[in-house]
Formats: sequence, C-alpha cells, structure tokens
Amino acid sequence: MSMPSFQQHGFSLSPGDFRQELQGQLTDLWILANDLIAVAFTNYGARIVGLITKDKQGQAVDVVLGFGSLQEYIDTTEVYHGAIIGRYANRIARGKFSLEGKAYQLPVNNGRNHLHGGPGGFHNAIWKLEEQTSTSISFSYHSPDGEEGYPGALTVRVKYEIIGNALKIVFYGITDAPTIVNLANHAYFNLNGDGQITGHRLRINADQFTPIDEYYIPTGVLDDVGSTPFDFRLPVEIGRRIHDDDIQLRNGGGYDHNFVLNKDTHHLSEAATVTGDRSGITLQVLTTEPGIQLYTGNFMHGEFELKDGRKDEYRTAFCLETQHFPDSPNQPAFPSVVLRPGERYFSETVFSFSASSEW
Ligand code: BGC
Repeated sequence: MSMPSFQQHGFSLSPGDFRQELQGQLTDLWILANDLIAVAFTNYGARIVGLITKDKQGQAVDVVLGFGSLQEYIDTTEVYHGAIIGRYANRIARGKFSLEGKAYQLPVNNGRNHLHGGPGGFHNAIWKLEEQTSTSISFSYHSPDGEEGYPGALTVRVKYEIIGNALKIVFYGITDAPTIVNLANHAYFNLNGDGQITGHRLRINADQFTPIDEYYIPTGVLDDVGSTPFDFRLPVEIGRRIHDDDIQLRNGGGYDHNFVLNKDTHHLSEAATVTGDRSGITLQVLTTEPGIQLYTGNFMHGEFELKDGRKDEYRTAFCLETQHFPDSPNQPAFPSVVLRPGERYFSETVFSFSASSEW
C-alpha cells in the first residue's frame, strides 16, 4: 500500500512510491529546487518526473507530464516519459546499420524500425546515482557490449543542474570500441499544465527540416521550411496549420519531425522557444545538438492516469528532443553519430523558463 502523498516543493509525490528493488537495484525519487523551479527525478531511466515553475500570476505549474509512482512508469505502454533515451534516440530504419564494414541488426520495436534504443533502451535501465549537490544530480549507466545489438561497451553519464530558472542537462560518454550514440531527454511538456497544447506558440530556429516517409524515416533530403506548415521561424500556434493538407503532416500524424537547427558550431545556441497561451510560461531550449524533434503527442490517447489525476489525452503535451538527425547511421550526409575509443561524447541542452503576461 502506498503512503499518502505529501507536498514537497509543490509536488504531491511520495518518495515511498518510487522506492523499489528493480533489476537488482534500488530506485528512488530526488528533488532539486530553488526559488524559481523545482524538478523531480528518478533513477529509473534517469528521468524527469515533474518540473514546477511559476506562471504569469506567480502560481506554481507542473509543466512536465509524469506518473505518481515507479510502478506506473513500469506498467505504462508510453515508456519514454521524461527519460534519457539511448543509445540512439529516434529511429534507425529497419534496425540496420553498418560500422567499419560490419553490419548490425538492432531490435525492431516500432513497426519495421528501431526506436529510442530498443525495448531495453536506457529509459528502461536503473541508473546509478553518482553525485548530488543542492543544485545538481548526476546519474551514470554502463551499457555492455552487444546490449540491444549495439557494438562496444559504452559508459554514459547525465548531469542535471538547476541554475536560476533553468534546467541544464549535460551528457558525457566513452566507449571501448566504435559505436553510435545519440542521447536525448524525452520530457513531455505542457506549459499550461493541462489541456491541448495546440494553442501554445512555438518558434523553432530552423530554416530546414528532414522530411519523412510513411514509416517516419527521413528521406535524406533537407527541405526548406519556407511556405510550409514547418515554418516556425516566427512564433506561431502549434495547432494553426496542424490540419493542413500536407503530405508531411499526414506521414507524421501531425508534427513528428526533426528540424535542422540554424547553427555552424557545436556551441550552445537557441533551438526553440514555446509559450503556454494560458499560463504565459515560456520555455526556451538551447542546445549543442544539430537537430530537434518536434513531437506533438499525436499518439497520446488518454489511456493512462498521470500524477495529479490528469490523463495523457491526445495532444496534451509536446516534446522537443534535442538530438542528431534520425537514421543518421544510414545517411552519410547527416552529421556523424559515431563515437570511437579515446573520444568523449558530449552534449548539452538547457531548458530555461520564464513567465510574462505579455506575449
Ligand atoms: C517519436 C514519436 C514517438 C514518441 C514516443 C517521439 O520521439 O518521434 O514518433 O511516438 O517519441 O514517445
């Protein structure tokens, strides 16, 4: 029986509901908080369980969807909530790729493709707590050679840090043999706290995106967003053009596409800015990554009850997953996702929050 929930930094979460022995290891709940934001984490998938920030009236709003207990994260069929996705975030066509002349077959778990590292991907792992301070928490995971079909033993670490009104996420990785790596956080955001996200205003700093086929796999070309429903260079409501008669929107069932960020360096730069139309809460996403996946909750269907009694209804969240492009191992023209021994994988993303009644 679970303990009654109690308020902790604005969350109605009970740590006891997150303490289990799973895969021979212990899971738990941690919270980082300051005057501006509070973020709850669990080491199951090194995931964000919730994130509280203030709206334009100064009211606390939890803007990241999640469950109220570890068991619900295990039982759900939408397994990526708030988690770290790896080894390869997004899709690899038919689960096949070649590296240094050798062909690999990864498990196929999304139609005919490999998605988000496979069924036993990093979202499903118990990460080790490495370090905790009043403003940061770090988790690590050692992925053995051959896990989910990937070559090389890979050790990854994620550091979450709150700095003022921002959550900074930094990934590090090393391998003992050539492999492919593409890590992302898969938070489902709703900046109003509830309801459909179609009224949120979104800007994406991208002149191009990677169009997909009917299996969600990039065709390999980079298309200009100009004169298409993918032009988010000036802020526009997510739902404004989502029903347009457009082959890409049909293929994605809405937006489920990677945008090619305007940047010529690997430095942290602005990727996207979103504002909740009712709350006035703005999320700015900065990243070192070359791409960002906009997913508008097209597969959500109200099957699961989330924390605070909300349901995961259709389009009640969006994801902005900073990443290398989908299916990069099979697209030589896309930025490389290969990591070799002696190299260090490094990726940084910042989710920064503010609120204003003027937008
Ligand atoms: C993908 C969606 C998928 C979702 C699963 C997103 O990153 O692009 O197609 O359904 O993850 O949660």
